[in-house]
Amino acid sequence: MIIIMKMQAKTPQIEAIIKRLEKENLQTNISSGEERTIIGVIGDHRQIDKGAMARMDGVDRVVPVLRPFKLASRDFQPEDTKISINGHVFGGNKVVIMAGPCSVESMEQMMETATHVKKAGASMLRGGAFKPRTSPYSFQGMGEEGLKIMADVRKKTDLYIVTEVMAPEQVDLVCKYADMLQIGTRNMQNYALLNAVGKTNKPILLKRGMMSTIEELLMSAEYIMSNGNHRVVLCERGIRTFEKYTRNTLDINAVPVLKELTHLPVVVDPSHATGKWTLVKAASKAAVAAGADGLIIEVHPNPAEAYSDGEQSLKPKRFAELMVEVERVAQAVGRSV
Ligand code: PEP
Ligand code: MN
Repeated sequence: MIIIMKMQAKTPQIEAIIKRLEKENLQTNISSGEERTIIGVIGDHRQIDKGAMARMDGVDRVVPVLRPFKLASRDFQPEDTKISINGHVFGGNKVVIMAGPCSVESMEQMMETATHVKKAGASMLRGGAFKPRTSPYSFQGMGEEGLKIMADVRKKTDLYIVTEVMAPEQVDLVCKYADMLQIGTRNMQNYALLNAVGKTNKPILLKRGMMSTIEELLMSAEYIMSNGNHRVVLCERGIRTFEKYTRNTLDINAVPVLKELTHLPVVVDPSHATGKWTLVKAASKAAVAAGADGLIIEVHPNPAEAYSDGEQSLKPKRFAELMVEVERVAQAVGRSV
């Protein structure tokens, strides 16, 4: 059960509700969002008189939620969440395209990529400054220098930036530069990190763990949301299966399943999902046809020389071709890019 307070609810009204629930031996989780407070009720609340709770001062409505994820559930909020970044809205009619290299490598590389992807119609720029690499001997990212490059490129191109944060102690630093914080597949269940980004006011791009179920993804979103940050965009980026030909298997089912279960926007990463640039266009079109609210695509001016993920990165020209075809699919399903 969730108790949604009115926007103008006062602290004593919230306290009165918590006290009443505690009297019934129930625990509470308080999520103080920018607009309103939401009280999650934990424990067996079958005996509670929900009508009486709904009539208490300051309460807007009481919502029974049976699923393990509450704030992320469609039961809690039937209408789609819309998250706006620099006027580009995730969860609306438009399919938001984020594009850029896997890793930030230099000012020149970022400027060149940004100029191309913007011209082709991308709405946001991606790039990793802190890289979660399988091998400790692989390029680990430029760190703060990389973030500064991205912020500079934003100034010149007006493309807002999404970049990964890997540890709770990096959150403040990354927040200084980024417009959206990415939680990578390897950190989807790093609960200390989820709690930390849940306390920020930045939109979060939460990538599905490569070995995680859809429900586990939603429980991770719940961690972020229960800390007060409700601006979470979910990302299907492929999961591990027995298939070896591709890097991962794009779980296209996840898109409509998530749309059924949650009000949060859902995007797809066709680059990590396939691991091969030749497959990225087909996977992108499939994602949009299935109802994805956005795509995050790796683009590099010279993939053969990329510090990471060159095999799955598109050259700018191929990205522009992809955009034309993705737009046609978007139109076919009543959307735009
Ligand atoms: C990335 O976006 O470059 C990345 C490392 O993604 P993932 O966490 O999905 O592997
Ligand atoms: Mn990558």
